Amino acid sequence: MAPDPRPNRESKLMPSARVLIVPVTPFQQNCTLLWCEATKHAVVIDPGGDLPMIEQAIARVRVMVTQIWLTHGHIDHAGGAAALKERLGVPIQGPHRGDLFLLESLADTGRGLGIEEARDVIPDRWLDEGDQVAIGELVFKVLHVPGHSPGSVAFFNAAQRFAVVGDALFQGSIGRTDLPRGDHAQLIASIKDKLLPLGDDVAFTCGHGPGSTMALERVSNPFLR
Ligand SMILES: [Zn+2]
Ligand SMILES: [Zn+2]
Repeated sequence: MAPDPRPNRESKLMPSARVLIVPVTPFQQNCTLLWCEATKHAVVIDPGGDLPMIEQAIARVRVMVTQIWLTHGHIDHAGGAAALKERLGVPIQGPHRGDLFLLESLADTGRGLGIEEARDVIPDRWLDEGDQVAIGELVFKVLHVPGHSPGSVAFFNAAQRFAVVGDALFQGSIGRTDLPRGDHAQLIASIKDKLLPLGDDVAFTCGHGPGSTMALERVSNPFLR
């Protein structure tokens, strides 16, 4: 078949994103390998642990990891970040500074839970509401979504109608707020004021279990009635 002579504007306007989920740690946290198809540059979001599994996934899809992003400071999300940063030589972005108290006690927390490899970590860049992070041609807006933890953030790519929400929102559920400095009312406000308004058509991946869409959660999530 002859190649289509028309310029493919859409592919330039909507650079494609690809995602591979790697469940890690005893908490089966969804470590997310996300990359830009155009450049093959990738980010590892929430490398909580089980680094060999993450590195196998990176090798399998043949991408170049250039960054690590953290949605929040809990051990299942951040416990492996320091070691992965060392192994890959890439910077860590996020979460919001409100989770410093979690990030500087990861090794202690790990000893209590039998996750001996967890290490304390300080990110190269704290993130705040309105900041941007980018991987290849994909630009994500940072949303500060406290409640599950004070420093939780979500990443939103407007062009792809796609978000990574950490433990703020799940399919049919919401994040725990019984952990240190959790706040139920604040979490509900974060979801209703920042995540749902991104749009019904926005799909998301989250820290545990299957992803969903804002539309589905708006109408059926029992915690948001
Ligand atoms: Zn968490
Ligand atoms: Zn989690």
